[in-house]
Amino acid sequence: MDRDPICRQLLEKALNDFSHERDRANQLQGLINHDSETGLMMRHMLVRKMNHLIQSGNKRFAFGILRLDRNYQRIRHSRDKLKVLLYVTAERIKMVMGEGNLYQSDRGDEFLFILPAPRGEEGIAKKVTKMMSAVREYHNPPASDIRFGCNVGIAIYPDHAETISELEENAEIALGIHEEVRWGGYLYSPEIGAIYHENNSLESILRNGILDGFSGFHVVYQPLVDTEGGLLGCEALMRWDAPGHGAVSPTRFIPLAEQSGPIVYLGKWILYQVLGQVKIWRETLKPDLFASVNMSLVQLEQPDCVEMITIAMNSHNLQGQALQLEITESVLMENPDVVLQNLMAFQQMGIRIMLDDFGTGYSSLAILNTLPVNTLKIAKEIIDDFPGDPRSVEIIRAIMSISESFGFATLAEGIEREDQYRGLVDEGVDVLQGFLFSEPIPAVDFQKRYLSSL
Ligand code: C2E
Ligand code: MG
Ligand code: MG
Repeated sequence: MDRDPICRQLLEKALNDFSHERDRANQLQGLINHDSETGLMMRHMLVRKMNHLIQSGNKRFAFGILRLDRNYQRIRHSRDKLKVLLYVTAERIKMVMGEGNLYQSDRGDEFLFILPAPRGEEGIAKKVTKMMSAVREYHNPPASDIRFGCNVGIAIYPDHAETISELEENAEIALGIHEEVRWGGYLYSPEIGAIYHENNSLESILRNGILDGFSGFHVVYQPLVDTEGGLLGCEALMRWDAPGHGAVSPTRFIPLAEQSGPIVYLGKWILYQVLGQVKIWRETLKPDLFASVNMSLVQLEQPDCVEMITIAMNSHNLQGQALQLEITESVLMENPDVVLQNLMAFQQMGIRIMLDDFGTGYSSLAILNTLPVNTLKIAKEIIDDFPGDPRSVEIIRAIMSISESFGFATLAEGIEREDQYRGLVDEGVDVLQGFLFSEPIPAVDFQKRYLSSL
């Protein structure tokens, strides 16, 4: 029997509505599941996929995070360029990883990926190298002036984690290490995890120490001498006895303090300690004594950096000559404009600037030419091999000739043996520092040993 035409129309309309609804629902689902800018599937889809792999008894898979580096952060303000760059970058990574393995993270500057059946560490390394160079490649106009790199963190299921959240956390830890230590690996290991958790606990002890009136911190002084062994000044170095840990090396706690901010407080604290001490020594024992203090990039980037040091000098009634600042080459690579301005302001105040650990970084001659620097401090790594290794002799000579052309003074650090001392004096180094003369020692001992006889 024929259906009633009205009934049929109603049915057709309902079916139409239904299919529209379904399309809309699919569209909405697509929007929820895919990132609008890169078109990649979102993180929750990856979590679903990982859950599926785990439940279906799949033995191993690798989860990874790829985060774009600081250079990318610098172009964040240009919205249009950014869209194109992100899209192109995602496409490039997709080519390496395969379409179904790349996902968009909740963060805009980050991608997530999965390697469903990783072929050993070498197989992973190959993929990572390919991915990193794909990201680093130059972009076409209109963004051809922009180039950025990335860091990667990877953790493997079930080797490194039992749950997805633990897997994500461990990949994040590996990424953190890759970001901090450029040459470091990107693959999680229990050792990396242990260092990370210990660093976290050290960092909170460090913050507590600062809040507790800098308890556990003190300053030691190492003499800087002329070619005859006569005292010129000292380098002030920080020491920390962490409750429950004992003495922690500055090579460990300074980077921790730099990453999370407390270096600004520690830096100001040591400056006031040192200026107070130098003032007493200059007034009572040696009027031309100076102290050299290490300065981190984070400190030099503070908007009130010059003001802070000016106030510190004025409040101690000290002239610029009483202070030297030690900076490393990396400081100049990262943020040249702000840093250059601040360094020039320091020089105008009469504060001398020393380029620490010179010879281990990448300073180009062009940078040296524009730098407000007075002294090159030749790195211990080079002094170690001198004069036994003929190459180290050549390096020292090259540094001496650069210093002469640019008008820098030279200081050699880490001198432990008599032959190093004699050889460096013969090569014309101006100032010397090292265990051969003295280890870094507390102020009372420094005064007894170097200043009471004056
Ligand atoms: P640096 O500024 O290059 O300091 C020289 C380091 O070499 C010091 O290590 C010193 O104890 C060591 N040293 C000096 N002569 C010799 C030697 O003949 N043989 C050997 N084996 N070592 C020698 P220290 O005190 O462990 O400091 C390590 C680094 O930590 C410093 O390297 C500096 O980069 C950083 N640091 C220390 N104190 C501060 C600070 O107050 N602020 C900042 N920002 N960094 C600091
Ligand atoms: Mg130094
Ligand atoms: Mg040094």
